[in-house]
Amino acid sequence: MQLHHIGNEGVRSSSGRTIPVIDPSDGQPFDELQRGSPEDIDRAVQAARKCYDSVWSRLSGAERGRLLMRLSFKVAEHADELAAIEQRDCGKPTKQARADALALVRYFEFYAGACDKLHGDTIPYQDGYSVLTWREPHGVTGHIIPWNYPMQIFGRSVGGALAAGNVCVVKPSEDACLSLIRVAQLAAECGFPAGAINIVTGFGHEVGEALARHQGIDHISFTGSPRVGTLIQQAAAERHCPVTLELGGKSPQIIFDDADLDAALPTVINAIVQNAGQTCSAGSRLLVQQSIYEPLLDRLGGAFANLRVGPARMDLDVGPLIRATQQQRVWDFLSDAQHASIPMVAQGQIVDEAPDTGYYQAPTLLRDVPITHRLAQEEVFGPVLAAMAFKDEDHAVQLANSTHFGLVAGIWTRDGGRQLRMAKRVKSGQVFINNYGAGGGVELPFGGVKSSGYGREKGFEALYGFTTLKTVAIRH
Ligand code: NAD
Repeated sequence: MQLHHIGNEGVRSSSGRTIPVIDPSDGQPFDELQRGSPEDIDRAVQAARKCYDSVWSRLSGAERGRLLMRLSFKVAEHADELAAIEQRDCGKPTKQARADALALVRYFEFYAGACDKLHGDTIPYQDGYSVLTWREPHGVTGHIIPWNYPMQIFGRSVGGALAAGNVCVVKPSEDACLSLIRVAQLAAECGFPAGAINIVTGFGHEVGEALARHQGIDHISFTGSPRVGTLIQQAAAERHCPVTLELGGKSPQIIFDDADLDAALPTVINAIVQNAGQTCSAGSRLLVQQSIYEPLLDRLGGAFANLRVGPARMDLDVGPLIRATQQQRVWDFLSDAQHASIPMVAQGQIVDEAPDTGYYQAPTLLRDVPITHRLAQEEVFGPVLAAMAFKDEDHAVQLANSTHFGLVAGIWTRDGGRQLRMAKRVKSGQVFINNYGAGGGVELPFGGVKSSGYGREKGFEALYGFTTLKTVAIRH
């Protein structure tokens, strides 16, 4: 039985209720979570406030940095354990679960080094004045986290907030809490004071909403769907609480006829099948220049047909989806494709060892998807790639910018002028040229435009969002 982590203690919910934890590889329950209540959120916010006022706000940046560095080492020592927890909880193949644990190590390491390097400025002004700016933490920050990359998103959100001098109340997804409860326990072992990191589990409409509405929360970092992002923003607007929104995407991978296809194709495939396509930055639309459309789809179709899907522990190309409703969502998209007579080029194979009760979906390559169809407009959040052809640069830009989203774009071309022209014209928070994701480096600021959200996490830039600027003007 899992407990909330509040004030460095395992705490039962005041609701007296629990939520089963399901293994996506076989659909079977194997543990239970606390089904949190608004009272639990209140308790966590009070623990966080006490910690902030009495301990955390008095630590120097160097002292916070040492704690985060210790946590980074601790997580590294426990990386295999955390990866195993995440694998069972989220259905991640071993290489993905391990990569997520190591990314968490790296986030804490990066933010440990940043703690004592964040500072304000002096501003030259009129004679007789000295003007300073101070970067002050918000105080008690709320973090609402999705299920697709719990450890990575915790690292970038909570790591940045702590480094900037805040304390944290975290609401993980009800589908993926276990690794984060364990990380909070490891932080306590490293000497993090009681109340610096609190975890309250439960459903979004119960504890997530209570967190977003709580008067004691000074900043909210939300990562999740655009629909819930709107609700968070509305709740926060009532008390003018600052919010960072990291939302969804329908990111294009754009391939020109001069591209290095040998380099591009494995990356294109990985960008849609990694984590079974359940990635905000998944490259889910493939835009290919007309002259190479047919040969490229031939090659890609062959590669898709060879992809193997199975239980997480088998560490194949693709694991299960997170839950039955997510599987149904992908099936609904594919059935819409069939009704619209959108041709399927190829599908991967689900291995015989995959239990019928698990949430499997074979990676699927569709072609000639009309730009107005929901498969070209909406986030599937599964391993489904929608291909379409373009004539020239203008046409590629028009297709790339034709959704409500703007998270990531991949551009493949050897032409240096075109690389920069395209990077400038595509509306997106990130543009990757002749790569996709740049290895996910924690140094690289990340965030969206349009309905993909606003504010930036990752990198040093995140620290500005986790602080507020105070201007101090002294008259001599
Ligand atoms: P979701 O929006 O359903 O849930 C996200 C979190 O919000 C969960 O913890 C959930 O419990 C909580 N929540 C749900 N309803 C709530 C409410 N009414 N009030 C407060 N909190 C509530 O998203 P999901 O299905 O967990 O994750 C998938 C989505 O997340 C996709 O849209 C994906 O693109 C997005 N995502 C974005 C990024 C990014 O960095 N941009 C990263 C990962 C995932």
